[in-house]
Amino acid sequence: MRSAYAIGLDVGGTRIAAGLMERKGRIVHESKVSTPKEAGPFAIVDAMIAAIGDVMAGVQPSEVAGVGIGLPAQIDFAHQSVEYCTNLPIAGLDVRGLIMSRVKFPVTMDNDGHTAAFGESCFGAAKSLRDFVMITLGTGVGGGLFLEGRINRGSRGFGGEVGHVVLEVSGPPCPCGGRGHLESYAGRPAIIREAREAAGTYRGSSLARRAGGDIEAITAEMVVEAANAGDKAGVEIMGRVGDMLGEALVGLVNVLNPQAIVVGGGIGESCPLVIERAAARIQDEALAGRRDVRVVPALLGNDAGVAGAAALAFEDHDSREGLH
Ligand SMILES: [Zn+2]
Repeated sequence: MRSAYAIGLDVGGTRIAAGLMERKGRIVHESKVSTPKEAGPFAIVDAMIAAIGDVMAGVQPSEVAGVGIGLPAQIDFAHQSVEYCTNLPIAGLDVRGLIMSRVKFPVTMDNDGHTAAFGESCFGAAKSLRDFVMITLGTGVGGGLFLEGRINRGSRGFGGEVGHVVLEVSGPPCPCGGRGHLESYAGRPAIIREAREAAGTYRGSSLARRAGGDIEAITAEMVVEAANAGDKAGVEIMGRVGDMLGEALVGLVNVLNPQAIVVGGGIGESCPLVIERAAARIQDEALAGRRDVRVVPALLGNDAGVAGAAALAFEDHDSREGLH
């Protein structure tokens, strides 16, 4: 039977978003709660279960295909186990088993970069594309590879970590423990660090003013706003983010020859300069025959994670039921 709804969960370090979605991508109920990170792993799972209950109020369980969950974690996809997770204390916990014992739906977990890519491919900027790279610029830099019409997860499910492409040998430290990775230049902490330095150097920059005169209070969003308003320091910092992103993409475009690069995440979607500069790098540097790749902003915004996770639940349900 083709169930009418699926539930998508997008679990982040600060909030858990849940949605009840129809097949065509319309989210009919939504719920957002803070992630009870400090209360421990079981409290986080309880909050996920409560969010599922919230969004399916009034709907018969038989109408629900299943639950898809995007996590900021390295998921062994075949075993559906959480292997590594930097932001939440859930590595090694049987998240899927705990949830399935309580909600009685099939549950499918995936890395949140993969669910975002899947969401954009089903309903967003990459609809009808066969080959694209998704990049999410936020606190971390994540993403996913969508190749030959499906998410490419690599051998265990850990593939697609485009934020950890090496740009500079012995470059600045990356939160993953490596050095000189894209995330070391394009993640929120890197943007904030550059902005604090610039605010002390550039007289007349709006960065300090935007933070009420307190350099320590500068956020990455303030830097994006400054860049969008043409502030010199803001343009310089976000332009460099775009350049570094572009350098990473030149390598990916040369290797994968995608049709498009979809740039999402809070920072990626709000700063056109980043996309312009990255696209210019590809135009200048990519190998011949690949330069027609389009660099486009994601379309689903905050809903990408929920929509992609719910779409994953539909896909799993349909392949179980032989509906593909
Ligand atoms: Zn890294």
